[in-house]
Amino acid sequence: MISIPSFSDLRLRVLNSGGVNPDGGYILYWMISARRMTWNFALQRATDWARQLGVGIVILEPLRCDYPWASDRLHRFVIEGMIDNAKAATLPGVTYFPYVELKIGNGRGLLEAVASHASLVVTDDAPHFFFPRMLQAAAEKLPIRLEAVDSNGLLPMDAADKTYPTAYAFRRLLQKALPAFLDDRPDEAVRLAPDVTRPKIPPNVLRKWPMADLSGLLAPNGLSNLPIDHQVCPVSIRGGTVAATEQLQDFLEQQLDHYQELRNSPDHDATSRLSPYLHFGHISPHQILEDLACHETWDSSRLSLETRGKKSGWWRMSPSAEAFLDELVTWRELGFNLYRHQPGPEDWTTLPEWAKNTLQQHADDERPTVYTLEQFRDALTHDPLWNAAQRQLLREGRIHGYLRMLWGKKILEWSPTPRLALEIMLELNNRYALDGRDPNSTSGVTWCLGRFDRAWGPERRIFGKIRYMTSANTARKTSVTSYLERYAE
Ligand SMILES: Cc1cc2nc3c(=O)[nH]c(=O)nc-3n(C[C@H](O)[C@H](O)[C@H](O)COP(=O)(O)OP(=O)(O)OC[C@H]3O[C@@H](n4cnc5c(N)ncnc54)[C@H](O)[C@@H]3O)c2cc1C
Repeated sequence: MISIPSFSDLRLRVLNSGGVNPDGGYILYWMISARRMTWNFALQRATDWARQLGVGIVILEPLRCDYPWASDRLHRFVIEGMIDNAKAATLPGVTYFPYVELKIGNGRGLLEAVASHASLVVTDDAPHFFFPRMLQAAAEKLPIRLEAVDSNGLLPMDAADKTYPTAYAFRRLLQKALPAFLDDRPDEAVRLAPDVTRPKIPPNVLRKWPMADLSGLLAPNGLSNLPIDHQVCPVSIRGGTVAATEQLQDFLEQQLDHYQELRNSPDHDATSRLSPYLHFGHISPHQILEDLACHETWDSSRLSLETRGKKSGWWRMSPSAEAFLDELVTWRELGFNLYRHQPGPEDWTTLPEWAKNTLQQHADDERPTVYTLEQFRDALTHDPLWNAAQRQLLREGRIHGYLRMLWGKKILEWSPTPRLALEIMLELNNRYALDGRDPNSTSGVTWCLGRFDRAWGPERRIFGKIRYMTSANTARKTSVTSYLERYAE
């Protein structure tokens, strides 16, 4: 009794040898990274099974308190998303179970308890952060079938079988492989049989693991008793699918036309700002492509047949839309590809050989300026533009995309060693950025150390052959006047 997936089977992995429980009362969707009720292949898989077995679904969306860098900022963003999901899940046949762990370890046993009444468990496939370890542990514990579904990108992660050294090489793969997957989109809405009743969570489970009081947690001081980092405060960007969709519409209507021309200008701030929503799974790349295609009156029959890896012209959309898709698809999915095929890519040893060699050769170069992690954190360098970028990170949980490169390059220049620079970048990015702890956190940070790049001349002190950037050049090439004023203090 196996259900055939209603999407490419490259997106589906069965993680254990457990069978389908014939006495199960529901399908359990364990929502861990694609935290949304729309455009979600894993949710679609759960509903496909539910229709086949004539049962409803329970959606368990947990939030642990002991993951690295857990903070008020990240918790609030996720809980705002949970509120949207709770509203969207009021459908016949669906029970939404939000769980927020209040003390470390309280959530232990919850998945097994809810799964013990289920036919099988479907979850999100995620190649990074603590997810692979958590999925493996769940696969070992659960006696019933556990399926992981990849909703991360337009190209299924398993459509590639190796890593790619450059965006150019990965773009060539995309241009060959992607057309076969572009019309394979997840359902926009949940589809269940109309007469299915809403599953009940057993009372003993709810007594031990009560459903989260989401609005209470968002009230003033609602998070204060949780063992998470309270120094990293919430930001004004609201989390969740509703805010993500508004942000997308706003970008398409107001900014997209200028994206090609102004995306590198911190003063204009013309990028989409969708990365936090993509990171927490509040929005799907498929939804973004669909709305963009609608805005551009485009469909996949317009794709170019060329596969030479050219940056523009392949989609046959406007230059701005092409530039945006190169970031959203080529660069973003390159990070997922890296994590799928290169274990632990945040580790120094996984950098390209040429980059490690040149950085090692210059590791003992005299460093006229060196800062500690705390000085970087508190934006106490001598460089006003770097400090402004760091203040934006502290205050808003983001750095303008162009300045993010400068931010990383200067940490390399002003750290005692390149290995320490890697640690400092990961620590600051992952603690303060809403979109941190993502495959693209690691690809962005390690790009500053040569990943996905080539050797550049002239060879310089500290950097060796690694691409070099300066604040003066950045300020000359783009406009930072109002940016500097905004983040002066
Ligand atoms: C040092 C450093 C650290 C970074 N850390 C992160 C991070 O923690 N999380 C993260 O998502 N991105 C990271 N990036 C990549 C990039 O800077 C951000 O994705 C981008 O600035 C997000 O802003 P946006 O959503 O407005 O992007 P847009 O320009 O609107 O692009 C649309 C989407 O494409 C993707 N994207 C854009 N640029 C890149 C890129 N260079 N690499 C990979 N994907 C990209 C993002 O998902 C983004 O939301 C980092 C880059 C550097 C140099």
